[in-house]
Amino acid sequence: MGEVWLVGAGPGDPELLTLKAMRVISEADAVLYDSLISDDILALLPARCTRIHTGKRCGAHSMTQIDINKALLSAARKHKKVVRLKGGDPFIFGRGGEELEYLEKHGVQVQIVPGITAAGGCAAAAGIPLTHRDYGNALVLHSGHTRFNEFSPSQNPTRVFYMGLRQAGPITAHLLQEGLREDTPVALIINGTLSTQQVFKGVLMDLPHIAERVLGDSDGPGLIFVGEVAAMARVQQQEANAQAVA
Ligand code: SAH
Repeated sequence: MGEVWLVGAGPGDPELLTLKAMRVISEADAVLYDSLISDDILALLPARCTRIHTGKRCGAHSMTQIDINKALLSAARKHKKVVRLKGGDPFIFGRGGEELEYLEKHGVQVQIVPGITAAGGCAAAAGIPLTHRDYGNALVLHSGHTRFNEFSPSQNPTRVFYMGLRQAGPITAHLLQEGLREDTPVALIINGTLSTQQVFKGVLMDLPHIAERVLGDSDGPGLIFVGEVAAMARVQQQEANAQAVA
């Protein structure tokens, strides 16, 4: 069984591909790509690799998500290294989470290479600072194409707190006051993507305690993730991270 790499291709400009994305693409035996992948990026695929186009934008020829999942599994059975190339970041409105769950359920190893998401790419291209000390202290990425009809609190946002470890107590108190359940999953990631990466998981009620323990052990930078998706955090380090430093 081969392995599948979920790779973010960034917002379009090939120079916004990461070095890691370039390396993984150059080693691919098969690439399944969606319609946001520009011709300039397709030109970088190795000539020998099998290419599968999974969708046309708003077109009639798109594969369904189930067909894509099955095509990924069947590619992993045939090839050593399969790349699922997605516009932007695979985990931001890219259905990468569904592909990951499906493949892991079928015993396929999955690695993830993040990409610059459209919000970051477009903001940079237009000179919009997404946060600003004076004008904006939070960033919300919304799906306009959603199962929910309104932009209402019944949505289920993933909250990510930068610079929050030392504020874990007040953050938890606020979130509970906002109505989040005490058993809402949380994850803390310290030194993310480095060989020293640490991932801690728990529930909201225990967040102050986990943060205190983490701060006692490490002075690296950290993020707090709050929301149902935090339960999917892999606690063991990804092999890819270790490789990047080796
Ligand atoms: N995973 C992607 C998003 C996929 S959803 C990411 O992280 O960026 C597809 C939507 O992303 C498009 O409908 C559009 O709203 C936005 N998008 C993607 N690339 C874009 C670009 N280069 N310019 C503007 N919007 C873009």
